[in-house]
Amino acid sequence: MSQDTITLIDQSGSDKHVAPFVKPSLEAFENPERIEMTLQYLEETKSLESVKTFKTTPATKEEALLVHKPYLVQSIELMSDLGGGELGESAWASEDLWSSAMHALGGALLAGELVASRACRHSFALVRPPGHHATTSSSMGLCFFNNVAIAVRNIQAENGIQKVSILDIDDHFGNGTSEIFYEDPNVQFISIHEYDYTSYGIGHYREIGHGRGYGTNINIPLHREAHDSSYQTAIDKIVTPAIERFNPDLIAVSAGYDAHFADPIGEMAVDSETYWYIASGVERLVRSCGMKGSFWVLEGGYNPLTLGPCVKATLEGLQGKPCPELEDQKEAREIEEEVVRLNRRTIKKILDTVSPFM
Ligand SMILES: [Zn+2]
Repeated sequence: MSQDTITLIDQSGSDKHVAPFVKPSLEAFENPERIEMTLQYLEETKSLESVKTFKTTPATKEEALLVHKPYLVQSIELMSDLGGGELGESAWASEDLWSSAMHALGGALLAGELVASRACRHSFALVRPPGHHATTSSSMGLCFFNNVAIAVRNIQAENGIQKVSILDIDDHFGNGTSEIFYEDPNVQFISIHEYDYTSYGIGHYREIGHGRGYGTNINIPLHREAHDSSYQTAIDKIVTPAIERFNPDLIAVSAGYDAHFADPIGEMAVDSETYWYIASGVERLVRSCGMKGSFWVLEGGYNPLTLGPCVKATLEGLQGKPCPELEDQKEAREIEEEVVRLNRRTIKKILDTVSPFM
């Protein structure tokens, strides 16, 4: 396998976890069809012809313990053995959770290791359940193990990697990952997410890290219904210069696709072109800064019909190809000028706060 290869690690067949339907809720959207239908789309559109593919193998408990407290790991295993139960807010176990979560983590670990060892330039772990809401001690928000955080700690321990930038593009704030690395000067965390400025929850742009990690946490909270243009401005004006300045060995991406306009949970308004834009920007950064590469791990994205086009656009961006014309881009959407204006103003304010660290 040459270093120019792109790899995709898929979990189909080992992602049987389905949360029990205790009440009608968002758990229903996080299901095995997300992986199966995405893979089917990638195969039907011949997107994997120039991509090397691997199947996931399960991680070990010791690997999960690189980030999580022993009681969290034990409670996930125990609750799965018991056949299911509530582990945290919007975090329900099933009898298949342990196996699915271990395979998801195994996929993320392999994605990180392949890039850290220069076996390939970019890798993508198509895995579930997602991870970025899980903290060291809590499962929540459909997340059990923080796959990306553990993969980062693993390549630091095993592959001699020192500095990593984590870019979280999921619709929701990656609270778990942010908390895990909040005081860490060697891991930069940048998150673009939906934010409600009327309630001021966590994920505000004034959260910029603490202690030795001061300046390494960059939040880009955008108003609901943010369009492609706002995302692209955030990438150009904040993400790119911040990563250039930090100068990491590689980039890890928490690849959530629930900011898509047709997502049933997220309330943003982008299409697959934005994911191509982000991926090609990451590929340019990797080349211009001489990094080893980037590894991507699936987070959210709950419309199985749009996940396929979004992942395809990502893979093509990473391969330096032009933006593919995909079916989801054809749907006419109204651009809310007021939202565009609000987000333009917000990005300026964020820049005022974070520019000392870029
Ligand atoms: Zn999300």
